[in-house]
Amino acid sequence: MTIPELFGSNVFNDEVMKNSLPKEVYQSLKRTIDEGSPLDVSIAGTVANAMKDWAVKKGATHYTHWFQPLTNLTAEKHDSFIEPSGDKVIMQLTGKSLIVGEPDASSFPSGGTRATAAARGYTAWDPTSPAFVKDGTLYIPTVFVSYTGETLDKKAPLLKSMTALDAQAKRLLKLFGIECRKVNTTVGPEQEYFLIDEELFHKRKDLMLTGRTLFGALPTRGQELEDHYFGTLKQRVSDYMRDLDETLWSYGIFAKTKHNEVAPAQHELAPVFTTTNVAVDDNQLTMVLMKQIAQKHGLVCLLHEKPFEGVNGSGKHNNWSLSTDGGLNLLEPGETPESNSRFMLILACVIAAVDRYQGILRACVASAGNDHRLGANEAPPAIISVYLGDQLGSLVDSIVLGREYVPKKAIPGSIGVPSSPIFPIDTTDRNRTSPFAFTGNKFEFRMLGSQASVADPNIVLNTIVAQLFSEAVDELSGAKNFEKACKDYTAKLLKNHYRVIFNYNGYGPDWEPEAEKRGLLNNKTTADAVPEYFKRENIDVFVKQGVYTEKEVIARANIALENYVKTINIEALTAAEMAKRDIYPAVNAYIAELCSVISAKRAASEKFVCATDEEIAGLLCSENEALMQAVKKLERDLQEMPAGELAASQKMAHAVVPDMEEIRRRADFMETLCSADYWPYPTYTDLLYSVK
Ligand code: ADP
Ligand code: MG
Repeated sequence: MTIPELFGSNVFNDEVMKNSLPKEVYQSLKRTIDEGSPLDVSIAGTVANAMKDWAVKKGATHYTHWFQPLTNLTAEKHDSFIEPSGDKVIMQLTGKSLIVGEPDASSFPSGGTRATAAARGYTAWDPTSPAFVKDGTLYIPTVFVSYTGETLDKKAPLLKSMTALDAQAKRLLKLFGIECRKVNTTVGPEQEYFLIDEELFHKRKDLMLTGRTLFGALPTRGQELEDHYFGTLKQRVSDYMRDLDETLWSYGIFAKTKHNEVAPAQHELAPVFTTTNVAVDDNQLTMVLMKQIAQKHGLVCLLHEKPFEGVNGSGKHNNWSLSTDGGLNLLEPGETPESNSRFMLILACVIAAVDRYQGILRACVASAGNDHRLGANEAPPAIISVYLGDQLGSLVDSIVLGREYVPKKAIPGSIGVPSSPIFPIDTTDRNRTSPFAFTGNKFEFRMLGSQASVADPNIVLNTIVAQLFSEAVDELSGAKNFEKACKDYTAKLLKNHYRVIFNYNGYGPDWEPEAEKRGLLNNKTTADAVPEYFKRENIDVFVKQGVYTEKEVIARANIALENYVKTINIEALTAAEMAKRDIYPAVNAYIAELCSVISAKRAASEKFVCATDEEIAGLLCSENEALMQAVKKLERDLQEMPAGELAASQKMAHAVVPDMEEIRRRADFMETLCSADYWPYPTYTDLLYSVK
């Protein structure tokens, strides 16, 4: 099979629909998919039957409503197509089974929106993301709602946020005389990950239970040589990536770029961008497949944000833009942004949205794993700011500060090698240190954790930008002199939100104090970031844009806190257990060995020097004792956990996490003293360098 033939071969895509559905049915469904018109329920039976016939030909025996509960993962319950017919069976998928499902909702997080007794939850087909066949099952993307109508997933609010942005963007474009059927947001999520040997993975309880190493002294070689980034792929890694690419292509996922990342054993995959809803589903499926395919290669794919201390962790870059159904990218500045009032207004709205709602933008990427990255000089700091680059930066400066604007043209550059071509040098440089950077014709939101769902940040982005668009339209629709009013309003927004623009090094030591002076938030832990959701203006924006009810916002924030508390609790219990049952006894055994060496030496001859043995044994004795004292402190803190998510999350962030760090500090130091034969776990060197 050629790659074009392979691409999408497991997907019930446009081509398959066109060929298998009656014309009117196809057109009706297409209107729903492309323009968001309500689904005509009467066509469901026909679509379901065509889907089932196609899936059965692909070897499917089951179907599942595939949904995204509030866990960052996807959920699925498989039903077979079989339907009794006399003493035989037929294969059937009814219209009703395609459209709605009813999984028991009681074991999914609901944040209190659903009483435990009211377990009913419904899944409903999302025709805008295509169904596919995987491992003998037809996967039907769905939203997940409770009996009382509250959303229990990430897809429903994402779709609502896209609808809100579409509506407000169309209103805004109308002011500029542009009519279109739909404004879509597009997303291209770059995904970082680690690959390690499967056998070693199973020797580490911390990796198995928490996804990250809770112990491990730094290897003598880390990432300081900067030789892994874009380095030659090792054979096993290359084979894995090839297998992954081909599988992703068969699911219609536009896997495009792959390379080694900064840390040893770290890699990245980037797809071509697509409509946000599909991009989110594709990213979920990509994460599942990354793990599954790793197994086939005797590897484990780690998606945790910080699998290893001391080397870079993994993130996900959310490249975000918006464009009309006609293909007009609304974040394209064109040659002369200074005279592109539409672009400037849209840019100002995005900047204003990011500044005003910085609290929830930070909160929506908060997780226990991501707390290790943000602000640790490998990812953007926990402070939200916007990078515009030289050209737009100086244009905005000129508007806000009244400076003269000298347009910077893309200049033809040459790399100075005679045979190399001349190419135009971009007008914007890259700034890898900014959490929210303009990169030519899109914004790149770089704070996402590697294992997070891409849905959350896009729900927030779409909602807050829709809000700013709607305010702009309300302000400008009656204007007598539209050009002037638009220019003034743009300038006003830029002036009011100028503080959020930061075009310099976000990792530098000056930025934190500077950001504080500017009044920007700097919520370093999940426990501190998530409560931003409870603020009045932040609840209001979701409610106004029809994305969440107040109850839903609060429920989601509570779930995020609850999840944080549970995650740290698991990590803490695992760390304590490893310290008590593995590390402490191992060190004691080595101390005993040293002691017997000392006595043996002494018995052999008075002249034998045992200074080193005694020194090491002594150090290990006191460190091992300190380790157990630290474990006791941790266990006390866990026992005295206050009630309620808010208080518990504070205790976790500011007591339990430091307790774990103290335990780790003792253990890692002992690892450097203890004989390799006695140490109970594969070391960082083993984990990071064993894949050939
Ligand atoms: P980088 O230098 O960060 O790798 P690229 O230009 O290669 O930047 O793009 C990175 C990601 O941005 C890719 O996934 C790409 O598909 C995505 N992207 C490009 N244009 C858009 C757009 N208009 N909307 C959303 N994502 C986009
Ligand atoms: Mg990038």
